[in-house]
Amino acid sequence: MKKLSILGSTGSIGTQTLDIVRRDKEHFSVSALTAGKNVKLIEEQAREFSPEIVCMADEGAAKDLKLRLADTGISVTAGEEGLIEAASVKSADMAVGAIVGIAGLAPVIAAIAAGKDIALANKETLVTAGDIVMRAARDMGVKILPVDSEHSAIFQCLLCGSAPEKILLTASGGPFFGKTREELTDITPKQALRHPTWTMGAKVTIDSATLANKGLEVIEASHLFGVGADKIEVLVHRQSIVHSMVEFADGAILAQLGSADMRTPISVALNYPERSKISGKKLDMFSVGSLTFEKPDLKTFKSLRLAFDALGAGGTLAAVMNGANEEAVNMFLSGKCGFLDIADMTEEAMKNHKNIKPPALADIYGADREAREFVRRHKWA
Ligand code: NDP
Repeated sequence: MKKLSILGSTGSIGTQTLDIVRRDKEHFSVSALTAGKNVKLIEEQAREFSPEIVCMADEGAAKDLKLRLADTGISVTAGEEGLIEAASVKSADMAVGAIVGIAGLAPVIAAIAAGKDIALANKETLVTAGDIVMRAARDMGVKILPVDSEHSAIFQCLLCGSAPEKILLTASGGPFFGKTREELTDITPKQALRHPTWTMGAKVTIDSATLANKGLEVIEASHLFGVGADKIEVLVHRQSIVHSMVEFADGAILAQLGSADMRTPISVALNYPERSKISGKKLDMFSVGSLTFEKPDLKTFKSLRLAFDALGAGGTLAAVMNGANEEAVNMFLSGKCGFLDIADMTEEAMKNHKNIKPPALADIYGADREAREFVRRHKWA
């Protein structure tokens, strides 16, 4: 029986994780659940899965939840302190990092410090503080098991035990693949939220449309698998069937294929080193048709180039890239800036930053704050 602390249980990854738990109560139970402010859903989850602790990042939402759960004996906590308590709750064996954005970093660090293995979906954790997080995991002897489908694919390919020569990271290309910069000028949030293959939270869906998501994944892969930017190649693969590949020194390429169902990589991480049956549509190889691979357009989708720049530079630059992007995505979603402004402002924030190498955690949070303020201060056209 593995006990889970699910950080971000009300989101796309969180609810799919709970779906796996719901169908496999013999092997999994829940020690803690956390959310931002979705009180209604987390109340339902708490009543169904009976965790010890439930935390709401939002203090007002936590007060509301406390009243709603008064009859249950479940402890309700609030804010960052509460998240850290939930992440490090004694009874849990593993924490699932499924909070969106840099808000997920501190709870994951706390879970590592408490000796929990991590099933990591929150890529921003490794993008902003990859060196610190990976070092802490090594020191504590805990496993970081990737949930991101591409990184799960790479992880599975690397189970052969050989060192990778090159990582071939696939990208769907998002809803605007093939468009020119000019054609993207008037893109609305509604258009950008329509992903061709995956159903995900709003932030990661917009990141997929700008290709910032693939950029963040390049940095994430570098930390997870210990390879430099020169050993990571991005391939646009519109069918989203090959979830990523690894090339080895002898020229062999291993790939992991499957249907676009996040429950597979979640299940791989939760069950490692075993594999478990999950329900759902399996990939029918006869209906796959052709698999295509193309080079990404780094001019139109410059967020991807910016991520390679940040990875090459090291230090706090990736935290700036991440923070500026996160803030700009929020502004785009609330109609305060245009689609192309997201990458433009990220680039400006990166140019404006004085890189700190090697950074302490405080430098990373400082860089994140600086980037967000820079984006907020900017006069949007
Ligand atoms: P969602 O937006 O669907 O869910 C995010 C979760 O985090 C929710 O539980 C939300 O609570 C909570 N949350 C939001 N803000 C805060 C905050 N400030 N403090 C604490 N908790 C907060 O995101 P996804 O599930 O799509 O993505 C989660 C992470 O996984 C991201 O880093 C993403 O890049 C990564 N990922 C997602 C994939 C997917 O298929 N969705 C695929 C691969 C990676 P509330 O509901 O109350 O707002």
